[in-house]
Amino acid sequence: MSICPKNKSSKGRRDSRRANWKMSTMNLVACPNCGNLMLPHRVCKNCGTYNKKEIVTTD
Ligand SMILES: [Zn+2]
Repeated sequence: MSICPKNKSSKGRRDSRRANWKMSTMNLVACPNCGNLMLPHRVCKNCGTYNKKEIVTTD
């Protein structure tokens, strides 16, 4: 079994594949602690909490 491409992709096929690659819209969730919009699965920048626990001390 080879992982090499069997046939050369034409310019049109290659470009159409890359044309579909776009920057996905950043989805934000509201922090359960302060309600600030933040990235999911990340420590809240506003209050420094994650999973209802304070991780980073903010003042
Ligand atoms: Zn917060």
